[in-house]
Amino acid sequence: MLPVVSIVGRPNVGKSTFFNRLLGKRKAIVHDEYGVTRDRHYGETFWNGRDFSVIDTGGYLPDDMNVMTVGIREQVHIALEESDVILFVVDVETGINTLDKSVASLLREQDKPVIVVVNKADNEERRLNASEFYELGFEDLYPISSISGMGTGDLLDKVTEYLPSESEPEPEIETPKLAFIGRPNVGKSSLFNALLKDERAIVTNIAGTTRDSLNSHLNYDGRDYILVDTAGLRKRTKVKENIEFYSTVRTEKAIRECDVAILLVDAMQGFDAQDKRVLREAEKFNKGLIIVLNKWDLVPEKDTNTVRDFEEYIYTSVPQLSYVPIITISALNKQRVHKVIDLAQVVIDERKKEISTSDFNDFIDQMLGEKPLPMKRGRQLKITYATQVKSNPPVFKFFMNSPHDLPPNYRKYIENKIRQRFGFIGVPITMVFRQK
Ligand code: GDP
Ligand code: GDP
Repeated sequence: MLPVVSIVGRPNVGKSTFFNRLLGKRKAIVHDEYGVTRDRHYGETFWNGRDFSVIDTGGYLPDDMNVMTVGIREQVHIALEESDVILFVVDVETGINTLDKSVASLLREQDKPVIVVVNKADNEERRLNASEFYELGFEDLYPISSISGMGTGDLLDKVTEYLPSESEPEPEIETPKLAFIGRPNVGKSSLFNALLKDERAIVTNIAGTTRDSLNSHLNYDGRDYILVDTAGLRKRTKVKENIEFYSTVRTEKAIRECDVAILLVDAMQGFDAQDKRVLREAEKFNKGLIIVLNKWDLVPEKDTNTVRDFEEYIYTSVPQLSYVPIITISALNKQRVHKVIDLAQVVIDERKKEISTSDFNDFIDQMLGEKPLPMKRGRQLKITYATQVKSNPPVFKFFMNSPHDLPPNYRKYIENKIRQRFGFIGVPITMVFRQK
C-alpha cells in the first residue's frame, strides 16, 4: 500500500489547484469515454523517489452553507482515518477565518503530522505575510503558489520526510485479496455477511448504516482469502456528498489493493457510468474482474434467456470487457453466493496461468496462417517470435518488424484469439510489441 497524503481546508483556498499541480493536470482530469468529464480527487505522484497517493478531500463539499461546517468536519475525519500526512491549505490573500480555525482545532486533536500550506503566496510580500498562520498552532508552515508552483519543492521535501518508512517488498505467495465494489446499496455488505455467515452487521435500506470496515479472512474449500470491504466508515457520514466521497476513496484504494475486483450491480437498477469507470480502473491496474448481478430474487419472470439478456446488455455497455464473467446471485437469500468465491478462484488461477513459449509460438503461427498480417508500405508485417514474459498478471511480448504499423483491429484480434485458445477468463491481458 502506498502512503496517503490528504489535502484539507475550507473552500476556495486553492486545494484543487494545488492537487492538480501535485498530480499534473493531465492526470487529474479523467475524460470519460461516455462524455462525462469529471474531476478526480485521488491520484498518485512521487517526489524524492517516494511514491504516494494524494486525496483532495475538498472535492465533494456541499455548497449549502448550513451543512458546510458538518461537511468539513467529516472531510477532516476522512483525512485523519485514511492518511499518513495531512496538508492543511489556507489562503494568504484572505488571511485566517473562522472555518480555518475550526479545521485547525480538529487537526490539533490528533497526532498525525500536519503541514500548513499557505497558498496564493505569489509574491514576496505575500510570502512574508504567511507567518500570520503560525497562530493556527502548527510548527510546519510553507508558503506556496499553486498557480506558479513556487515553494512546492520545499514543501514536498518535508512531506517525504514525514512519509512512513518504506515497507518490505511483499512476499511472492500471498493470500489473494478479493474486493467487493459497487455503488451504495447494491448489497456489498449483504454478500460479505452471507459469506462470512456472520450476522454482526445490521443491514438496512439506508446508505450509511453498515458497520465499520475490516478486511476479513475467509477460509473456503480449504483456501484462504482476504475480503476487502469497501463499505466501511460510512456510518459516521451525515452529509450526502460525503457518502459518495467515502465510497470513491475506498473503492480506489480497494482496487489497488486487491487481486480480484468483484463489481456488484443491482440487477433492478442496472449498470451506470460509475460502474464502467470502476471496471476500467480495475482493468488499468490489471486486476482480475468479475461482475455480480445481485438481487436476482427481485427479477420477475426469469428464464434462461433472462441471464443472456443481462449479459448482452452489460457487454454492449462495455464491449472491451467481454472477457469479464458475470454471475447472478441473491445475497439476501444466500443464493449462489459461494459461486462468487468459486469464480474468484477461477480468475485467480487464470491470472497466474503460464503458457509455454513453444505452445504460444505454435498458436501464433496457426493464427497468422488463418489470418495473415497486412502489408504496410509495401512490406509484409511479420511476427517472428512471441513469449509470455510474466504471469499474475499476464504480459505477452511480440517481436515483429514495424510494430507501429500493427493495426489496432489486428491487435484486438490477437487478444480475442489468445482468449479463445487459452482462456484468461476475467483477466486483463497486456500485450507488448517490439521491433525485432
Ligand atoms: P478549492 O475550493 O480549495 O479547491 O480552491 P480552487 O483550487 O478551486 O481555487 C480557488 C480559487 O483560487 C481559484 O480561482 C484559483 O484560481 C485560485 N488560486 C488557487 N491557487 C492560487 C494561487 O497560488 N495563487 C492565486 N493568486 N490564486 C490561486
Ligand atoms: P451495500 O451498501 O452495497 O453494502 O448494500 P447492503 O448490503 O447494505 O444492501 C442494501 C439493501 O439491499 C439492504 O436493504 C439489503 O437487504 C438489500 N439487499 C441486499 N442484497 C439483496 C438481494 O439479494 N435481494 C434483495 N431483495 N435485497 C437485497
